[in-house]
Amino acid sequence: EELRGEIAPDKRPRQVPGYHYSRIEPTPVRDPHLLAWSEELGGFLGLTRPEERGPAVDALAGNLVTDSMKPFAARYGGHQFGHWAGQLGDGRAISLGELRAVDGSAWEIQLKGAGPTPYSRRADGRAVLRSSLREFLCSEAMHSLGVPTTRALSLVATGDTVVRDMFYNGNPQEEPGAVVARVAPTFIRFGNFQMMAVAGELDNLRALADYVIQHHYPELGAPSPAVYMGWFEEVCRRTAVMIAHWQSVGFVHGVMNTDNMSILGLTIDYGPYGWLEPYDPDWTPNTTDFASRRYAFAQQPQVALWNLYQLARAIVPLVAEPEALRQSLDQYTATLAETRHAMMLRKLGLSELFPVEDRALLEALPEALAGAQVDMTLFFRRLSHTVPALLANPEKQAALFGEVLAAASYNVSPEGEQALLQWLQQYAQRLQQEPASPEVIRENMLSANPKYVLRNYLAQQAIEAAEAGDVSVLNRLMEVLKTPFAEQPEHDELAAKRPEWAREKPGSATLSCSS
Ligand code: AMP
Ligand code: MG
Ligand code: MG
Repeated sequence: EELRGEIAPDKRPRQVPGYHYSRIEPTPVRDPHLLAWSEELGGFLGLTRPEERGPAVDALAGNLVTDSMKPFAARYGGHQFGHWAGQLGDGRAISLGELRAVDGSAWEIQLKGAGPTPYSRRADGRAVLRSSLREFLCSEAMHSLGVPTTRALSLVATGDTVVRDMFYNGNPQEEPGAVVARVAPTFIRFGNFQMMAVAGELDNLRALADYVIQHHYPELGAPSPAVYMGWFEEVCRRTAVMIAHWQSVGFVHGVMNTDNMSILGLTIDYGPYGWLEPYDPDWTPNTTDFASRRYAFAQQPQVALWNLYQLARAIVPLVAEPEALRQSLDQYTATLAETRHAMMLRKLGLSELFPVEDRALLEALPEALAGAQVDMTLFFRRLSHTVPALLANPEKQAALFGEVLAAASYNVSPEGEQALLQWLQQYAQRLQQEPASPEVIRENMLSANPKYVLRNYLAQQAIEAAEAGDVSVLNRLMEVLKTPFAEQPEHDELAAKRPEWAREKPGSATLSCSS
């Protein structure tokens, strides 16, 4: 209520100057039926899994709007691939309002794919099943990995088809549509602030900052110029922690536009994301970004900083000393470096014994991993299991390292292999100095190195089955990804190297933005 919304607007695409959001109702779909449900999130929100069809599913599809709901689409802008794109806004996402979880906290429920809004521009306001299933699965998988993220409660098929040109080859096809119910404390993005700033709506800009601080950063106190600066510093800190997590598990977001950056430091807007399989700092899953590689794995820390800089520019009018914003940006870099360092030590089972030597060892690892084309997830997981044998039988080192490489490498050249083996030898020496027992080191490493991540080819298999009416693959993935650090040996095949056939298959390694 503190923010300005236009009431009862029509759904035609247009500019919406002067407002934070537009009150807008979802457009009903033909035959909503539940495909998947997050038991964990549902339980936290005090909800039980609904039947396949019925009023609850109607609500999750946008077909039923109750009196307590206040549906709206937010107005925001953003930099897309480095260029200011003007007003974007929720073109297909409609928030229903907030729900109280069992612990009393408030959570916004947002339907993605719920029909046109004033922000739909030339698009249809809908989402296809394949991209919706990917967002649903990955949101929950990331949460289970401990990565800050928006959540997903349900995946509902609409019974309608949506027309998309999946390969950008001029051949649009009909595909099944779906709606995901996303859940987060708020979906406000950097782009919401940018929009108000660019439009010169200073009162709106301030109201938005005050709203975010009061509702989502209450510990900072009542908004004031000094508090705005402390708030920006905290956004920088949270963003750094999020990026450190991404780099630690090998997640590539794929579309880090400023409209896809959460003001809470949450991973948001799952599109053409992916996971490093052969370790390659220059890899992006997003075929639309193949030429510039702006959002490649190793670029993510820099891009987040660039995005924070755009947010800083937007909020300059609110603060007394703009220079202090620059210090917060430096703080981002420092926090990111520290957090990444701590996370990498954990992944390698190392305590902070010899920080200086450790830094050199850690800094040499990416190049060694890239040279040997090892699967990031499998490498760390396999290494974790190898530690006790390595410490007990140093003379078997070469054989043990050979096993790690065989299990994780896609294509070892002799030089690539040599460099990684050398690195491993140094690592083994360093490991000898650890005071903890080999078993404890192994357990610590296993709790930092997931066995299961949502590889794109696995998501694609779940999609193909779901499109054919079989949600068992989706359900199995969902179950396994709930405890990604647990061994779950009956699901070993989901923790394997990406098969050769998946390398070039659309959707199985790389994807377009079509969604
Ligand atoms: P994205 O690249 O997915 O973050 O989307 C960028 C912008 O395009 C956002 O404002 C979305 O709401 C909008 N958008 C994407 N797909 C659609 C669609 N099918 N209908 C309406 N708006 C869309
Ligand atoms: Mg987006
Ligand atoms: Mg998107």
